[in-house]
Amino acid sequence: TPHRVLVTGGAGYIGSHVLHALADAGIPAVTIDNLSTGRRAAVPASVPLVEGDVGSAELLERVIRDHAVDAVMHFAGSIVVPESVEKPLAYYRNNTVNSLTLMDACVRLGVGNIVFSSTAAVYGAPDRVPIDEATPTAPINPYGTSKLMTEQMLRDAGAAHGLRSVILRYFNVAGADAAGRTGQATPTATHLIKVACQALLGRRPALSIFGTDYDTPDGTCIRDYIHVSDLADAHVLALLHLRRGGESLTLNCGYGRGASVHEVVRTLEEVSGEKVPATLAPRRPGDPPQLVAKADRIRERLGWVPKHDRLDGIVRDALAWERSLT
Ligand code: UDP
Repeated sequence: TPHRVLVTGGAGYIGSHVLHALADAGIPAVTIDNLSTGRRAAVPASVPLVEGDVGSAELLERVIRDHAVDAVMHFAGSIVVPESVEKPLAYYRNNTVNSLTLMDACVRLGVGNIVFSSTAAVYGAPDRVPIDEATPTAPINPYGTSKLMTEQMLRDAGAAHGLRSVILRYFNVAGADAAGRTGQATPTATHLIKVACQALLGRRPALSIFGTDYDTPDGTCIRDYIHVSDLADAHVLALLHLRRGGESLTLNCGYGRGASVHEVVRTLEEVSGEKVPATLAPRRPGDPPQLVAKADRIRERLGWVPKHDRLDGIVRDALAWERSLT
């Protein structure tokens, strides 16, 4: 049997884009997903979907053996920041404890390569941008802490057991597969570009623009929006890096440039030719004014060259996907 990469959470938003990127590259994969937020239809037909929980050591062991798994990409996890404040222990269980179970299975069964989905939330609210990978980590919510704890376990397990990892710290992931095969399908998602598209299509009430008095050029928050397909390509490159014996890396995933909330809304209006129903609202607690990656290291270390790094393209693909949902 050929080696397969185990993708946890492959029925979800980012995991499903990665499964399609792997399939496009001819790299065999298998996925475990409990379909709590993911969808079966998002998984490419060529990829076996094992329905179950990544917190189960027995299930992991079976899948790793049955499919000759030699590498893992770990997407399964919870990502809603306010929910992590209300249910911290659920976040530590789902994000941190399950990651430990997965790492432990890898060490026991000799799987030496892990690509891990981390987040810019590990930086908290840093006082300067752009944010490089040496910026001190200081998460401000349990979500960010749950991811940072997993990063630390990976580094320690790397030193002790030779488990090599690429930790990818995502900035603001947005957009959808340009071929329309998958996209962000959670109707209650809270991410700006998703919500703005839903508001434009009348599938949500008006977009609330959270805070217009920040110390930024137009008063709204600035984020580094990255197209999910470019992020998927970064994962494939990270996998190839580990498979050829490359060293462990921690890399920001962004473009190194920011867009404000007003700019995002304006771009969506230009792309669609329609008005986004929007109201100005108070600040959302915990939002840092600016989060922009210093994103040179991933280009240098993985040879990553983004192909979708235009905001209008991100927004166009997000809107096309949203229109395709019924
Ligand atoms: N935002 C907004 N209205 C929304 C959702 C988000 O104004 O309905 C703003 C939010 O305050 C932040 C930016 O858009 O400044 C990005 O928020 P998102 O939740 O997409 O990602 P985050 O940066 O919080 O991870």
